[in-house]
Amino acid sequence: MRIDLHAHSNASDGTDSPAELVANAVAAGLDVVALTDHDTVAGYGEAAAAVAGTGLVLVPGAELSCQVDGISMHLLAYLFDPAEPAFAAERELVRTDRFRRGRAIVERCRELGAPISWEQVQRIAGDGSVGRPHIASALVEAGVVAGVSDAFTPEWLANGGRADVRKHETDPVVAVRLVRAANGVPVFAHPAADKRGRTVPDAVIAELAAAGLGGLEVDHVDHDDRARARLRGLAAELGLFTTGSSDYHGSRKTVRLGEHTTDPAAYEELLAQATGAAPITG
Ligand code: AMP
Ligand code: FE
Ligand code: FE
Ligand code: ZN
Repeated sequence: MRIDLHAHSNASDGTDSPAELVANAVAAGLDVVALTDHDTVAGYGEAAAAVAGTGLVLVPGAELSCQVDGISMHLLAYLFDPAEPAFAAERELVRTDRFRRGRAIVERCRELGAPISWEQVQRIAGDGSVGRPHIASALVEAGVVAGVSDAFTPEWLANGGRADVRKHETDPVVAVRLVRAANGVPVFAHPAADKRGRTVPDAVIAELAAAGLGGLEVDHVDHDDRARARLRGLAAELGLFTTGSSDYHGSRKTVRLGEHTTDPAAYEELLAQATGAAPITG
């Protein structure tokens, strides 16, 4: 069983359409793929239609933008009821603030001499939940930086960088409770991805575990072996399962679908905790 529980489509900052993501997951030899766009479920319908007849299992999910003590972090949510109103309202709040903040970042970039425009960013993002990777693509188009990851530096879009503007991000304890109240399963995404910025201390992870966190994403491109070993120990201590996933973003990142995978036993545990939605079997 090859299980990848973290992938983005162009419903957020990936470059594959949901249908292309499904086709690429099949081509990559995956048995299970989760669609986890940032703060949106907009890709579900197209992905579910595309999975029919493929034999692939699609796990509907999302990746929520959270912040605690000024530290940004991501919470994966799986198999929740997308219609549950409190959680749906919070996703909507984050998505709406992404527009205000996107415009503000573009304005900052222009002040700093980068010839990009909000219209250009909107064309790149399409209907997707707009984020810094779209602005990074605009900076690449304008010849300001060579590649998307070169825009995530202090000069431009990195956390705390010259053109970084904060967006509304949910308190993670609140987010964990919202996911559970929608009968989904919350998993802390790349908890030790320290090249993106500060990471949350173990005490906060313990607090999230007490609030209902289900698991930690351990095998991830942004974690070295030491970080993985440490997180595995922490998960065991806190009674959390551990996952491994690619965090695929199509051509916006170099990571390939299935580059990291989740143990079937951990996947079974996730399924056992979820009652908000069922995986879609093609
Ligand atoms: P946002 O959600 O708009 O705050 O942007 C965060 C997104 O930017 C993450 O989900 C990643 O897809 C991307 N990102 C963050 N750090 C980097 C980096 N160093 N290189 C490339 N992409 C990054
Ligand atoms: Fe992303
Ligand atoms: Fe993330
Ligand atoms: Zn992600």
